[in-house]
Amino acid sequence: MLLLATRSAGKLRELREIFDEFRLNITDVPSLGIPESLAEDQLERYETFEENALAKARYFFDISGGVPTFGDDSGMCVDVLGGEPGVYSKRWSGSENLARKALDAANNAKLVARMAAARKSNEKGFTDSARYVCVAAFRDHLGEEMRRGEIEGRVLENPRGSGGFGYDPYFEAPDLGGTFAESSIENTARKSHRSRAFRALLNALRAQGRL
Ligand code: IMP
Repeated sequence: MLLLATRSAGKLRELREIFDEFRLNITDVPSLGIPESLAEDQLERYETFEENALAKARYFFDISGGVPTFGDDSGMCVDVLGGEPGVYSKRWSGSENLARKALDAANNAKLVARMAAARKSNEKGFTDSARYVCVAAFRDHLGEEMRRGEIEGRVLENPRGSGGFGYDPYFEAPDLGGTFAESSIENTARKSHRSRAFRALLNALRAQGRL
């Protein structure tokens, strides 16, 4: 058995496509009946994707009694904003407790405002370049392993597409052929930052004989 340290059905769906390719069966936290705790809410408090991803993998490895566990952390890094929102992508707007759609809308409103301000104050030096970043971590009885995946792109002034979540309608990536909100689930599962991080990690673990 392998555990994915998430309570998000969407994340499980996206990653299951990749685990299926590797002929691996993955289960999530609710399926194991692990109750939500205060400690769990504090797992993503660090300042790097690496620390956050590893914290999730370690915590659920321990609390599950030693089930080999994958954890991940991801976000968008915008160059002209000095790498923001980065690890704060989810709670950037400051209103963390909103339902998902309202949370995405609040974060995207902040993105549009910050880019407009940067465009104005930075006229000549302005760039809309950005990347989606994901770190995938793994913890088993032998130790820990981690890989990073990135996809380069740019932040749009006007949103395109209706799929995906988060910053997807505003993030266009040439490798994807459009915005993440315009991309099919299959296309995203092949090329996203998450896909790149998890494929690299699964290949490494396979090569080590740990999967
Ligand atoms: P987490 O890895 O689930 O903690 O994601 C953190 C946040 O980063 C999300 O709530 C989104 O705001 C942003 N993010 C991460 N990956 C994506 C993506 O693939 N599309 C859009 N937003 C993303």
